[in-house]
Amino acid sequence: MTAPGAGWRGWMAALQGELRGFLDWWLPPACPLCGQVLSERPVPPACPACRTAISPIPSPRCPLCEEPFLTEGGSDHLCEVCLRQPPPFTWCRSLGCYEDLLRLAVQRFKYQEAVGLDRCLGTLLAERLRAAVTEFAPAVLVPVPLHRERLRQRTYNQSLLLARTLGRRWHRPVAARLLERTRATPSQQGLSAEERRRNLRGAFVVRQPLDGARVLLIDDVLTTGATARECAATLLQGGAEAVAVAVLGRARRLR
Ligand SMILES: [Zn+2]
Ligand SMILES: [Zn+2]
Repeated sequence: MTAPGAGWRGWMAALQGELRGFLDWWLPPACPLCGQVLSERPVPPACPACRTAISPIPSPRCPLCEEPFLTEGGSDHLCEVCLRQPPPFTWCRSLGCYEDLLRLAVQRFKYQEAVGLDRCLGTLLAERLRAAVTEFAPAVLVPVPLHRERLRQRTYNQSLLLARTLGRRWHRPVAARLLERTRATPSQQGLSAEERRRNLRGAFVVRQPLDGARVLLIDDVLTTGATARECAATLLQGGAEAVAVAVLGRARRLR
C-alpha cells in the first residue's frame, strides 16, 4: 500500500533531481582548489588530483605531534621535542604536510577570505581523521580562539569555521566560546620555539568547567606546537580529561 503523500513526495524528489541536473549544467560544480569541473556524483569536496596531492604525512613520523622525519623508511618514533618535554595533548593529527597545494589552500582560507574553503578542507580532514576521532570520542570540539582585536581585523576565525564543518561531519558539538584568548599576542611568525612558548604563557582561559570531558582542539596549522600545548594545558587545568589536536597542515619545525 502506498503511504499518503508518497506520490507528492516522489514528484517533489523528481523535480529536485531535475533542478539539480539543470543547475549542474548551468553552473557545473568545480574543485575549490584547482577549478576543474567535478563530474562525480555526489559531488566530492575536491577533484581526485587535488585529493591525491594532499597526502597524509608518511612514516616515519612522531606519533604524538606528527613531526615528519626527513629520513626515508624506519618506524615511527618520538621526536626530540616530545622526548624532552611530552606534550599535554594525547595526539595531534593533520590532513598533511603544510607545503605545496595544502599550504596555498590554507593561506587562501586564512588570509584571502576564501571562506568557502572551510567545507572543502574540513570535509577532507573529517574523512581522514574519522577513525582516530571515533576512537578518541571527544565530547566537544574547541577551536583555537583569536583575540577579539585580531578577530575584528580579520572578521572571521578560520579555526571556528573549520570546527563547524568537522562538527557537522562527525555529529559532535562545537564550543565556540569555551576557550578564550585574553591577551593579544604578537604574531608567532619568525619566533623560535622557546620565544613562542613565552609569548603565549597565560594567554588563554577556560570559560566553563569541563567536568572530565574529552576535548578535540581544532587549529589550521601546527608549527612548533606552542599554541596547541598552551591551549591543551589550559583545557586540562579547566577540567578536561584529555585533549587531542586536529589541524589542516603540519609544518616542519624551524631548525
Ligand atoms: Zn582540484
Ligand atoms: Zn613529537
